[in-house]
Amino acid sequence: MTWDIVGHELAVRQLQLALERDEMPQALLITGPESVGKMTLARLVSNALLCQGPAAQRPCGACRACRKFASGNHPDFMAVTPEEAGGSLKIEQIRAVERFLTLTPNESAHKIALIGDFERATTAAANALLKTLEEPPVYAHLILLAQDADLLLPTIVSRSRRIDLRPLSPVTVDAALQTRWNVPAEQATHLARLSGGRMGWAVRAVTETEYQQRMDNALRLLLGLLRQDLPARFETAQALARDEHTRPDEILAYWLTGWRDVLLIQTGNAPRITYRQYDQALAEIAQRVPPNAVLQALQALEACRDALQHNANAQLWLENLLLNLPELA
Ligand SMILES: [Zn+2]
Repeated sequence: MTWDIVGHELAVRQLQLALERDEMPQALLITGPESVGKMTLARLVSNALLCQGPAAQRPCGACRACRKFASGNHPDFMAVTPEEAGGSLKIEQIRAVERFLTLTPNESAHKIALIGDFERATTAAANALLKTLEEPPVYAHLILLAQDADLLLPTIVSRSRRIDLRPLSPVTVDAALQTRWNVPAEQATHLARLSGGRMGWAVRAVTETEYQQRMDNALRLLLGLLRQDLPARFETAQALARDEHTRPDEILAYWLTGWRDVLLIQTGNAPRITYRQYDQALAEIAQRVPPNAVLQALQALEACRDALQHNANAQLWLENLLLNLPELA
């Protein structure tokens, strides 16, 4: 049985085996970076548990249970995530999960609750879930998603079977974009490089039309910052950290691309740059900023991106990053 997910072969095989042997753990904790495939995998496990098709073909996609699941109407499946983007997972939501799992299944042998962004659970919410984790009803399955198990209560982690998803290789993302999403080769390779191995991000970049616009805006912001004085940069950092509509980690990914382009120009590889429409502005930077300072900027960006992915204080990191950018003014 091939599950409809790119990569993560080991995790998929492990879960399929558990299904075949009817040994699916009652508590699964799927961890990994944002958009790496946690939700896709969790939905496949849920769907496979509910599917009434032949055992070797679950999820079959054709039975009544699969059709109900696909349309979001399966009565034995419940998914909760924080109600607002960036908000927390509240105790009322966990109580709703508890109530859902208390009642026996309606149509299948299992009842599944999927909880996304579990690192955003309030302490009260996490503690409330512990009770359910300690003595789940026999038919109950809990699937928790989190970016990093270190951010969760150790008692939650120790009661769950952990599945760690790592970023895919750029080659895998590249090939999937070309074969499954019909993305032209050059664009696919470029997006795969930008994606950091996160398939979900790459697919959104292809399917969301404003993607190119966001990429351009990010580079223009960087070009502007290089000519700003420190107080102006300080304000920009604060605005970036505060603005709920911008995703700092995404902007940082584009800036990484911009600085790599500068480095490519400096090493005589100008034809390989990504931001071709900005080649003159980038060539000017390549001429005025020494290569070691470009490398430093790249390292600082990578450190900042890592920190933000681990929920560090965004404003502090962005201030530090922006104030230390080279100056072109
Ligand atoms: Zn089915």
